[in-house]
Amino acid sequence: MPEAHASSFKAPKGLLFVVSAPSGAGKTSLVAELLKRDSALTLSVSYTTRPRRSGEVDGKHYHFVDHQRFETMVAEGAFIEYARVFDNAYGTAESSLRETLDGGEDLLLEIDWQGARQVRERFTDAVSIFIVPPSLSALEERLRGRGQDSDAVISERMAKARDELSHWDEYGYLVVNDQFERALADLGTILRAERLRTARQAAREQHRLSAMLGD
Ligand code: 5GP
Repeated sequence: MPEAHASSFKAPKGLLFVVSAPSGAGKTSLVAELLKRDSALTLSVSYTTRPRRSGEVDGKHYHFVDHQRFETMVAEGAFIEYARVFDNAYGTAESSLRETLDGGEDLLLEIDWQGARQVRERFTDAVSIFIVPPSLSALEERLRGRGQDSDAVISERMAKARDELSHWDEYGYLVVNDQFERALADLGTILRAERLRTARQAAREQHRLSAMLGD
Protein backbone atom coordinates (compact mmCIF):
# COMPACT_ATOMS: atom_id res chain seq x y z
CA MET A 1 0.00 0.00 0.00
CA PRO A 2 1.41 3.46 -0.85
CA GLU A 3 2.76 5.49 2.04
CA ALA A 4 -0.06 8.06 1.88
CA HIS A 5 -2.72 5.37 2.19
CA ALA A 6 -0.95 3.58 5.01
CA SER A 7 -0.77 6.77 7.03
CA SER A 8 -4.39 7.71 6.29
CA PHE A 9 -5.63 4.37 7.61
CA LYS A 10 -7.66 5.00 10.74
CA ALA A 11 -8.23 2.31 13.31
CA PRO A 12 -11.98 1.90 13.72
CA LYS A 13 -13.37 3.69 16.74
CA GLY A 14 -16.23 2.30 18.73
CA LEU A 15 -19.78 3.40 18.10
CA LEU A 16 -21.75 5.30 20.69
CA PHE A 17 -25.33 4.17 21.33
CA VAL A 18 -27.70 6.06 23.60
CA VAL A 19 -30.87 4.44 24.91
CA SER A 20 -33.60 6.29 26.80
CA ALA A 21 -37.07 5.34 27.93
CA PRO A 22 -39.65 6.33 30.50
CA SER A 23 -39.16 4.46 33.74
CA GLY A 24 -41.14 1.19 33.51
CA ALA A 25 -40.80 0.78 29.73
CA GLY A 26 -38.55 -2.25 30.16
CA LYS A 27 -35.34 -0.57 29.05
CA THR A 28 -33.10 -2.13 31.69
CA SER A 29 -34.21 -5.72 30.93
CA LEU A 30 -33.87 -5.15 27.19
CA VAL A 31 -30.40 -3.67 27.53
CA ALA A 32 -29.29 -6.48 29.89
CA GLU A 33 -30.38 -9.12 27.36
CA LEU A 34 -28.83 -7.20 24.47
CA LEU A 35 -25.49 -7.12 26.31
CA LYS A 36 -25.63 -10.86 26.91
CA ARG A 37 -26.11 -11.51 23.20
CA ASP A 38 -23.72 -8.88 21.84
CA SER A 39 -20.15 -9.38 22.98
CA ALA A 40 -18.93 -6.32 21.07
CA LEU A 41 -21.05 -4.03 23.22
CA THR A 42 -20.04 -2.45 26.53
CA LEU A 43 -22.41 -0.76 28.95
CA SER A 44 -21.31 2.55 30.40
CA VAL A 45 -21.43 2.68 34.21
CA SER A 46 -22.78 6.05 35.33
CA TYR A 47 -22.05 8.01 38.47
CA THR A 48 -25.02 8.74 40.69
CA THR A 49 -25.90 10.29 44.01
CA ARG A 50 -28.96 8.03 44.29
CA PRO A 51 -28.84 5.62 47.22
CA ARG A 52 -27.99 2.07 46.26
CA ARG A 53 -31.01 -0.23 45.88
CA SER A 54 -30.82 -3.76 47.20
CA GLY A 55 -29.08 -6.03 44.73
CA GLU A 56 -27.16 -3.17 43.13
CA VAL A 57 -23.38 -3.42 43.09
CA ASP A 58 -21.11 -0.38 43.28
CA GLY A 59 -18.99 -0.16 40.12
CA LYS A 60 -21.30 -2.50 38.21
CA HIS A 61 -24.74 -0.91 38.18
CA TYR A 62 -23.50 2.57 39.09
CA HIS A 63 -20.58 4.29 40.75
CA PHE A 64 -22.38 5.48 43.89
CA VAL A 65 -21.03 8.82 45.11
CA ASP A 66 -22.23 11.52 47.50
CA HIS A 67 -23.47 14.93 46.35
CA GLN A 68 -20.19 16.62 47.24
CA ARG A 69 -18.12 14.22 45.14
CA PHE A 70 -20.57 14.56 42.26
CA GLU A 71 -20.42 18.37 42.34
CA THR A 72 -16.60 18.23 42.42
CA MET A 73 -16.67 16.05 39.32
CA VAL A 74 -19.04 18.53 37.63
CA ALA A 75 -16.69 21.42 38.51
CA GLU A 76 -13.72 19.47 37.16
CA GLY A 77 -15.55 18.86 33.87
CA ALA A 78 -15.33 15.10 34.39
CA PHE A 79 -18.74 14.42 32.83
CA ILE A 80 -19.56 14.25 29.15
CA GLU A 81 -23.18 14.72 30.25
CA TYR A 82 -25.07 14.85 33.49
CA ALA A 83 -28.61 15.43 34.65
CA ARG A 84 -30.76 15.63 37.71
CA VAL A 85 -33.55 13.07 37.84
CA PHE A 86 -35.83 12.34 40.83
CA ASP A 87 -33.80 14.69 43.14
CA ASN A 88 -30.64 12.79 42.34
CA ALA A 89 -27.81 13.47 39.95
CA TYR A 90 -26.54 11.10 37.26
CA GLY A 91 -23.56 11.52 34.96
CA THR A 92 -21.33 9.78 32.43
CA ALA A 93 -17.58 10.15 32.95
CA GLU A 94 -15.72 11.32 29.87
CA SER A 95 -12.51 9.38 30.63
CA SER A 96 -14.05 5.90 30.62
CA LEU A 97 -16.25 6.74 27.62
CA ARG A 98 -13.25 7.80 25.54
CA GLU A 99 -11.19 4.85 26.69
CA THR A 100 -13.85 2.40 25.47
CA LEU A 101 -14.47 4.13 22.15
CA ASP A 102 -10.77 4.71 21.43
CA GLY A 103 -10.20 1.03 22.14
CA GLY A 104 -12.60 0.25 19.28
CA GLU A 105 -15.40 -1.09 21.46
CA ASP A 106 -19.00 0.01 21.02
CA LEU A 107 -20.48 1.71 24.06
CA LEU A 108 -24.08 1.93 25.17
CA LEU A 109 -25.32 4.68 27.45
CA GLU A 110 -28.57 4.10 29.31
CA ILE A 111 -29.44 7.67 30.21
CA ASP A 112 -32.38 10.08 30.31
CA TRP A 113 -33.45 12.59 27.63
CA GLN A 114 -31.47 15.45 29.16
CA GLY A 115 -28.27 13.43 28.95
CA ALA A 116 -29.11 12.10 25.49
CA ARG A 117 -29.52 15.66 24.25
CA GLN A 118 -26.07 16.64 25.59
CA VAL A 119 -24.45 13.56 24.06
CA ARG A 120 -26.00 14.22 20.63
CA GLU A 121 -24.63 17.77 20.75
CA ARG A 122 -21.10 16.58 21.48
CA PHE A 123 -21.07 13.37 19.45
CA THR A 124 -22.97 14.09 16.28
CA ASP A 125 -22.64 10.50 15.08
CA ALA A 126 -24.06 8.99 18.28
CA VAL A 127 -26.96 6.66 17.56
CA SER A 128 -29.92 7.42 19.80
CA ILE A 129 -32.78 5.04 20.48
CA PHE A 130 -35.98 5.67 22.40
CA ILE A 131 -37.95 2.78 23.89
CA VAL A 132 -41.69 3.31 24.02
CA PRO A 133 -44.00 1.32 26.31
CA PRO A 134 -47.14 -0.10 24.63
CA SER A 135 -49.42 2.16 26.72
CA LEU A 136 -49.53 4.33 29.83
CA SER A 137 -51.52 1.67 31.68
CA ALA A 138 -48.85 -0.94 30.88
CA LEU A 139 -46.28 1.49 32.22
CA GLU A 140 -48.22 2.04 35.44
CA GLU A 141 -48.69 -1.70 35.86
CA ARG A 142 -44.93 -2.24 35.55
CA LEU A 143 -44.19 0.55 38.03
CA ARG A 144 -46.68 -0.91 40.51
CA GLY A 145 -45.29 -4.39 39.94
CA ARG A 146 -41.92 -3.24 41.23
CA GLY A 147 -43.04 -3.36 44.83
CA GLN A 148 -43.93 -1.28 47.78
CA ASP A 149 -44.10 2.24 46.32
CA SER A 150 -46.98 4.37 47.64
CA ASP A 151 -49.64 5.85 45.32
CA ALA A 152 -47.99 9.26 45.70
CA VAL A 153 -44.63 7.86 44.57
CA ILE A 154 -46.33 6.04 41.68
CA SER A 155 -48.03 9.23 40.48
CA GLU A 156 -44.77 11.15 40.72
CA ARG A 157 -43.06 8.42 38.66
CA MET A 158 -45.91 8.48 36.12
CA ALA A 159 -45.55 12.26 35.74
CA LYS A 160 -41.80 11.85 35.18
CA ALA A 161 -42.45 9.02 32.74
CA ARG A 162 -44.82 11.19 30.70
CA ASP A 163 -42.21 13.94 30.68
CA GLU A 164 -39.56 11.50 29.38
CA LEU A 165 -42.03 10.18 26.80
CA SER A 166 -42.64 13.69 25.45
CA HIS A 167 -39.05 13.74 24.12
CA TRP A 168 -39.47 10.71 21.83
CA ASP A 169 -39.06 12.75 18.65
CA GLU A 170 -35.50 13.84 19.51
CA TYR A 171 -34.19 10.31 18.91
CA GLY A 172 -32.95 8.62 15.75
CA TYR A 173 -34.85 5.37 16.36
CA LEU A 174 -38.04 4.36 18.14
CA VAL A 175 -38.58 0.86 19.48
CA VAL A 176 -41.97 -0.13 20.91
CA ASN A 177 -41.63 -2.65 23.72
CA ASP A 178 -44.97 -4.43 23.38
CA GLN A 179 -43.28 -7.81 22.92
CA PHE A 180 -39.94 -8.29 24.60
CA GLU A 181 -38.34 -10.55 21.96
CA ARG A 182 -39.43 -8.33 19.10
CA ALA A 183 -38.16 -5.18 20.81
CA LEU A 184 -34.87 -6.99 21.49
CA ALA A 185 -34.59 -8.01 17.84
CA ASP A 186 -35.32 -4.42 16.82
CA LEU A 187 -32.48 -3.18 19.01
CA GLY A 188 -30.13 -5.80 17.58
CA THR A 189 -31.11 -4.80 14.04
CA ILE A 190 -30.40 -1.13 14.72
CA LEU A 191 -26.96 -1.94 16.11
CA ARG A 192 -26.13 -4.21 13.19
CA ALA A 193 -27.27 -1.75 10.53
CA GLU A 194 -25.38 1.10 12.16
CA ARG A 195 -22.21 -1.00 12.27
CA LEU A 196 -22.59 -1.73 8.55
CA ARG A 197 -22.84 1.90 7.45
CA THR A 198 -20.26 2.67 4.77
CA ALA A 199 -18.58 5.39 6.81
CA ARG A 200 -18.01 2.91 9.64
CA GLN A 201 -17.08 -0.03 7.46
CA ALA A 202 -14.55 2.13 5.60
CA ALA A 203 -12.13 2.10 8.52
CA ARG A 204 -12.41 -1.68 8.91
CA GLU A 205 -12.48 -2.67 5.25
CA GLN A 206 -10.14 -0.14 3.70
CA HIS A 207 -7.32 -2.67 3.25
CA ARG A 208 -9.63 -5.16 1.53
CA LEU A 209 -11.07 -2.54 -0.83
CA SER A 210 -7.67 -1.06 -1.62
CA ALA A 211 -6.34 -4.54 -2.41
CA MET A 212 -9.25 -5.27 -4.76
CA LEU A 213 -9.06 -1.90 -6.47
CA GLY A 214 -5.29 -2.06 -6.73
CA ASP A 215 -4.65 1.32 -5.13
P1 5GP B 1 -32.61 4.81 38.14
O1 5GP B 1 -32.44 5.64 39.36
O2 5GP B 1 -33.99 4.18 38.08
O3 5GP B 1 -31.51 3.80 37.98
O4 5GP B 1 -32.50 5.77 36.87
C1 5GP B 1 -33.33 6.90 36.77
C2 5GP B 1 -33.11 7.57 35.42
O5 5GP B 1 -31.77 8.09 35.32
C3 5GP B 1 -33.26 6.63 34.22
O6 5GP B 1 -34.02 7.31 33.24
C4 5GP B 1 -31.85 6.44 33.75
O7 5GP B 1 -31.78 6.16 32.37
C5 5GP B 1 -31.24 7.77 34.06
N1 5GP B 1 -29.77 7.73 34.12
C6 5GP B 1 -28.99 6.75 34.60
N2 5GP B 1 -27.69 7.06 34.46
C7 5GP B 1 -27.64 8.26 33.86
C8 5GP B 1 -26.57 9.12 33.43
O8 5GP B 1 -25.38 8.85 33.56
N3 5GP B 1 -26.95 10.30 32.86
C9 5GP B 1 -28.24 10.66 32.69
N4 5GP B 1 -28.49 11.82 32.08
N5 5GP B 1 -29.26 9.88 33.07
C10 5GP B 1 -28.97 8.70 33.65
